[in-house]
Amino acid sequence: MTKSDTQSILIIYTGGTIGMREDPMTKTLSPMRFELIQDEIPELHKLGFKIDSVTFSPPIDSANMTPEIWIDLAKTIKECYSKYDGFVILHGTDTMAYTASALSYMLENLDKPVILTGSQLPIGVLRTDGKENIITAIQIAAAQRKGKAIVPEVCVYFSSFLFRGNRTTKEDSQQFSAFASHHYPKLAIAGIDIEYYYGLINYPSSKGTFKINTSINDNVIVLKIFPGLNRKYFESILSLPGIKGIILESYVSQCPGGRVKMGYYETSRELQEAGVVSGKDITIEAAVTKLMFLLGQKLSSDEVVEYLNQNLSGEIEN
Ligand code: ASP
Repeated sequence: MTKSDTQSILIIYTGGTIGMREDPMTKTLSPMRFELIQDEIPELHKLGFKIDSVTFSPPIDSANMTPEIWIDLAKTIKECYSKYDGFVILHGTDTMAYTASALSYMLENLDKPVILTGSQLPIGVLRTDGKENIITAIQIAAAQRKGKAIVPEVCVYFSSFLFRGNRTTKEDSQQFSAFASHHYPKLAIAGIDIEYYYGLINYPSSKGTFKINTSINDNVIVLKIFPGLNRKYFESILSLPGIKGIILESYVSQCPGGRVKMGYYETSRELQEAGVVSGKDITIEAAVTKLMFLLGQKLSSDEVVEYLNQNLSGEIEN
């Protein structure tokens, strides 16, 4: 088989439950080396693809994820972009939706798949969901039609479903089906065949070349509104030194379903008048990372507001 007959995939291992092992003494889970994960999945050879891997050192529990690691991920993809047809990122489930959202803004003119996956049970456990997740994520990352990637987006693949990454939220820490996308349909379902919903997938409209934008400003916080929220705390947060952006989880945006309709109720009209921008149907993960990304660019505050209202990479409805 010549090189052009064989898709090449880069697996980037950041850590997460998928690659964890139980310490016999403390009974706690911590990440192990990628080679040990590979030993658990001999099926990878049957795929017939050229598969390489890089391991982020040290592999982490994604509870310890940072914007610096998002930047390293973007740089790794950029460095290896021409060599591979697709990328699979192995990642813990806790913050997978944040990383997927951040990458969706940082990877510009993407025309290859970047598929994040992980698992609820470690790969070495008999009933692990990790094998199916990795194998299918690789198949999706390698899938092409007429020589072009079928899913040239940053996605999360988990438990038979392919979601747009910046529409995804972790919803369940017990069931194998850990993720949901409340405001955008699944991009593919893996049953006996992998069924792609082509009309829902974003295909690059510009002919621009792939590049990364790694400017991030993390001076943002999320404030959840609740009855009895003491005004003095609220005001002191607003005046924290260095704070550049605040995401308000108001009552409508605390519901997983539906969207924010600013100004619909009298109470929200005051927020609108104070200059609060509606998040529309955005997830909290996509909102936090979008704000960090926009504040990292050299934009005026009016421009930040303008871009917040715009759909940058499929994170909100048009
Ligand atoms: N704490 C783990 C992590 O996010 C959970 C998981 O991978 O499912 O790294």
